[in-house]
Amino acid sequence: MVSGADWTLVVHGGAGIIEQGTLAPEQEAAIRDALARALDAGAAILRVGGAALDAVEAAVKVLEDDPHFNSGRGSVFTYEGRIEMDAAVMDGRTRDAGAVTGVTATRNPVSLARRVMEDSPHVLLSREGADRFSRERELEQAGADWLEIAERRRQLEELKARGADHFDVDMKYGTVGAVARDKAGHVAAATSTGGITGKRWGRIGDSPLIGAGTYADDRAGAVSATGSGEFFIRAVVAHEICARARLAGQDVLSAARATIADMGALGGTGGVIVVGPDGRGGWAFNSKGMYRGKVSNDQDPVVALFGEE
Ligand code: ASP
Repeated sequence: MVSGADWTLVVHGGAGIIEQGTLAPEQEAAIRDALARALDAGAAILRVGGAALDAVEAAVKVLEDDPHFNSGRGSVFTYEGRIEMDAAVMDGRTRDAGAVTGVTATRNPVSLARRVMEDSPHVLLSREGADRFSRERELEQAGADWLEIAERRRQLEELKARGADHFDVDMKYGTVGAVARDKAGHVAAATSTGGITGKRWGRIGDSPLIGAGTYADDRAGAVSATGSGEFFIRAVVAHEICARARLAGQDVLSAARATIADMGALGGTGGVIVVGPDGRGGWAFNSKGMYRGKVSNDQDPVVALFGEE
């Protein structure tokens, strides 16, 4: 086995039509800065021997709090002009998992997903029930003044004005996620999203679905996805990558590339971040770009946005 790193953290902030020149310079700088801060937050935990699960939660919280990403603060609007957030976490040690869908008032949905995992007998809670669980467990609540960003409302209006449906390829995605391998050799994954602009009818994407957008298994690796969720659900992307690694002996990066190609053949776009039990990690995507970053004990932080970086 090629030796990997002692500890590794990979993060993403969404995939989509992300090309040189499409971002204002201050926007690009802010996105790079946020990805670097997310890497710092997780690395601070992993460096001192902390758990992969803690690291992915810490990294995702930084991105949820940053309005440049479609999760937590800055989540996209539903067709009715509401915010309905989804999140999931999975611990590769035990394959314990927790997830929420359609939550409307939790500042950090990733932490709520973790509470579902650790403090309820369930894996996935939805909508009013998930909101109620959040209040009962005293997670920090956030109102419209925190979660809603004017630019996201403008994007909804634009989508409606164009008569576009939610698969419009011009609409960037922007989900966030993290995967980590800690010094003890355990892996974990977390994903958080507002979903897609203009979603209706209680639509749920891949992010909170264990196996589709999020998966972690110490025997295989950890995966967090972003992109056109319906296709990721149909290709069961995150679990498929882990199954290729565990059952077919593929390294996790080759498994990721093959699975993205398979998902792409169905017509989907997007990408994944992955880390293997040996600490080797990275990404694979078929979209123009993907907000992403990586750090490990033997590599300084790297942040990239565009396909050719
Ligand atoms: N995969 C997410 C969803 O379908 C969207 C995204 O990645 O931005 O809800």
